[in-house]
Amino acid sequence: MKVAMWYNNGDIRIEEQPLCPPGPGEMIVKVISCGICGSDVVEWYRLPRAPLVQGHEIGAVVVETGAAVEKFKTGDRVFIAPKVPCLQCRYCRNGHFPQCTGVKERLPGGFAEYILVSERLLEQGAYLLPDSISFDQGTFIEPLACVVRSQAVAGLHGGESVLVLGCGMAGLLQIQLAKRRGCRIVATDIDPGKLKRAASLGADLTIPAAEDVPERMKEFLRGKADAVFLCTSALPAVVQAWSAVDKGGAVVFFAVPGPEKPVTIPINTFWTQEVRVLTSYYCGPPDIEESMRLLAAHAIEVDSLITHRFPLSETAKGFQLVLEGRAALKVIIQPHEQRSESCAPCMDQ
Ligand SMILES: [Zn+2]
Ligand SMILES: [Zn+2]
Repeated sequence: MKVAMWYNNGDIRIEEQPLCPPGPGEMIVKVISCGICGSDVVEWYRLPRAPLVQGHEIGAVVVETGAAVEKFKTGDRVFIAPKVPCLQCRYCRNGHFPQCTGVKERLPGGFAEYILVSERLLEQGAYLLPDSISFDQGTFIEPLACVVRSQAVAGLHGGESVLVLGCGMAGLLQIQLAKRRGCRIVATDIDPGKLKRAASLGADLTIPAAEDVPERMKEFLRGKADAVFLCTSALPAVVQAWSAVDKGGAVVFFAVPGPEKPVTIPINTFWTQEVRVLTSYYCGPPDIEESMRLLAAHAIEVDSLITHRFPLSETAKGFQLVLEGRAALKVIIQPHEQRSESCAPCMDQ
C-alpha cells in the first residue's frame, strides 16, 4: 500500500509499505478522509519522530477484522483516536488523559491507504461513525475534541466574554463552541477572509490582528475578556492576550509560539489579579464523545471549513497550503481519490 512519508515539511515522499494481515484482535481500515492538523506542520514538534507517516484525524471504513474481533465488522464506518489513555494511572484518574503514558502504542498515520489497528486501539480508541457524520466531517472529531477540552480547562460554563486570537480552523471551532455556550466573542486574525468567516460563524466583533486589539475589544465588551484562547503561534498575539485578559480570567495556550520564541509572562500583575495562564494539549475520551455528539447533531458547522481535498499523491501540496496558512482552513487528504478539489469559495470575493 502507499503511504505519504513525512521527512520534513519540504520533503514528503509517497512510499510503498507492506500491509500485514490483522492478528486475531486487530482490524484493517481503509482511510477515506484524513485531515491535515495544524500541529502536523510544526517541525520542532514532529521532527524528533521523523521520518513518519502523519495523519491523526481520520474517517475510515473497516475492510478486514481478525477472528476474535466482535466489536466491529467489515463495512463499519469508524473514527479512531490516535492514542488512548490507560484509564488507571493517576493522570487518568485526575482527568489529565493527555499526560498518560501508560499505553505506548499509537495509531499508524492516516496519510496512507490503509491502517492496521491494534487490539488496544480497536477496543478503546475506535468509535462507530453515526450516519449523520460523513467521513470528511469525521476528520473534525479529534480537533473539535481538543477544543472541547480547552474550553473545559478554561472553565467556560456559559455567558463569559471570550477573545479568540487566530481564526484558522481551531479558532473557528473555538468561536462556534463558545457561541453555543452563549459567550460574547471577539476574534482576531491577520487575514480579512478569515475574519469574515469568524463573523459568519458567531464572532460578535472581529478585529484585524495588526490593530490595537485589547483597546478595541475593551470598547466593545466594556471590559476585558474572561477567557483568551491563543489559536496562533504569532508572538504578538501573546502580548495582546496579556493585556486583554480580565482579573480572575484565563489565558489558554491552544497553540504555542515555538521553542525559539520565549514568552515572558507578566506574572507580578497576574499574581494580584489571579489571572490563570493555562495550556491545553490533545483530548481525552470524554472530549471525543462530546465532540461526536456535537458533530452528529450538526451543532458545529464544519463543511464550510473544508477548503481543499487532495489525493494521497498530493499530500505535499496540502502540507504547503496548511503551512502558508492563508488560503487554507481544513485540508483533507483522500487516499483513494485521484483528483484534487478546491471548495468553499473564499468569502473575500
Ligand atoms: Zn489534530
Ligand atoms: Zn493513564
